[in-house]
Amino acid sequence: MPRPMTMTEKILAAHAGRSDVQPGENVWVDVDILMTHDVCGPGTIGIFKERFGDDAKVWDPDRVVIIPDHYIFTADQKCHRNIQILRDFVRQHGLRYYYDPDFVTSEPGMPNPYKDPTKTHYKGVCHKALPEEGHIRPGEILLGTDSHTCTAGAFGQFATGVGNTDAAFVLGTGKTWLKVPPTMKFVFHGQIPPYLTAKDLILAVIGEISVSGATYKTMYFAGDGVASLTLEDRMTLTNMAIEAGGKNGVCDVDEKTLQYVRARSNVPNWMVYADDPGAGYIFEHEWDLATLEPLVAKPFSPDNRDTAYNCREVKVDRAYIGSCTGGKITDMIFAASLLRGHSVKVPTFVVPGSTEVHADMKRLNVHGEPCQTGDKSIEDVLLDAGCQLAPSSCAACLGGPADTFGRLNEPMTCISTTNRNFPGRMGHKDAGVYLASPLTVAASALTGSITDPREYVGEPIVTGTAGTV
Ligand code: SF4
Repeated sequence: MPRPMTMTEKILAAHAGRSDVQPGENVWVDVDILMTHDVCGPGTIGIFKERFGDDAKVWDPDRVVIIPDHYIFTADQKCHRNIQILRDFVRQHGLRYYYDPDFVTSEPGMPNPYKDPTKTHYKGVCHKALPEEGHIRPGEILLGTDSHTCTAGAFGQFATGVGNTDAAFVLGTGKTWLKVPPTMKFVFHGQIPPYLTAKDLILAVIGEISVSGATYKTMYFAGDGVASLTLEDRMTLTNMAIEAGGKNGVCDVDEKTLQYVRARSNVPNWMVYADDPGAGYIFEHEWDLATLEPLVAKPFSPDNRDTAYNCREVKVDRAYIGSCTGGKITDMIFAASLLRGHSVKVPTFVVPGSTEVHADMKRLNVHGEPCQTGDKSIEDVLLDAGCQLAPSSCAACLGGPADTFGRLNEPMTCISTTNRNFPGRMGHKDAGVYLASPLTVAASALTGSITDPREYVGEPIVTGTAGTV
């Protein structure tokens, strides 16, 4: 009788050529996709050349995906130099999947006017662009030189961040050495109420177990509450697994996952794995979604959990809606549905998570359906409410150069849909960042204080076809 296994154990076993692996065991695995970007790509390339030689070839030019996204719209020449290193490497190795921000050379600094997001080869934030461009499939192993690579676990794959040295080894060999993580199971029961998004769920989890509570563990998000989420909202759960120290995060594969992946990927064959009944978990916790309240993480840690209601006296200087966590098209619909017909009271910065998200903001109405005559687009609604909008990139999520859109260049208080609020993360080290859902951020933008979105949201927010395929 085979031992019951988790999804993560099955994926790692299959990629190690084994029938079984045990948590804690070290195994050599074959990697399906290696992703890097403009911050860690140049360092990875440098180590690859140093250790494998200037003339060495990457192990598979069709399995390396390079997505510049972090420091794009800036006049900082060091950032432009990083992009050029990527371009040279891509050309030298004939890499098939590279998404160049072509306007960096043609228009240094913030392009004005911004080019049509449907016309550029540039894709925006890597974790959003990877599934959009068909690089994510269930049952595979994705490594990326970015800690939020775990986002792709929402599609039922093993996805995790690695350092430049490990990435350089993968570039040369296609293999890596991994310790099999034990699995923690987080179960959500019920349908998600209209005033919550997955951001509230993951803040509840991290607040419960702390920023080190899942160190080197798999975080498995399960239950009918997770099944009720859109794929994009599931990505918010797995995206923030790393904020609890998780090695990876996973969700079950269902019809929503299969429909999306089949529509995007040109690879026909992949495996779907699921946890066996009786699989071993080192921790289990359950929530009833009907009892959860809108949450925030107060400065300076994602586990500094409180309710939005308890923080209602906190004045905010600015609101920020963007990043791989909170810049997806459904996040934009959540924010626009709440802001429609109102005006923001504090400067509110909006950065689409990808150029596809940006194009959809122009194409779709607030119900997530293509605009008909007379409809306002999601972008129209946000601009009418007084939001400022920039092209897709990581932008102020990680601070960046001083000319980065939305960067907190002074000590101030910001409420944000991003994933980290450590000192200095979004710019100034004395700026205080409250992490929250797009609904809570939008409600707070309207009042100038942290605001429970239940004051504005009554009916379920429909997201239609947005982000479904
Ligand atoms: S949007 Fe923020 S968290 Fe996501 S990849 Fe960029 S810097 Fe990292």
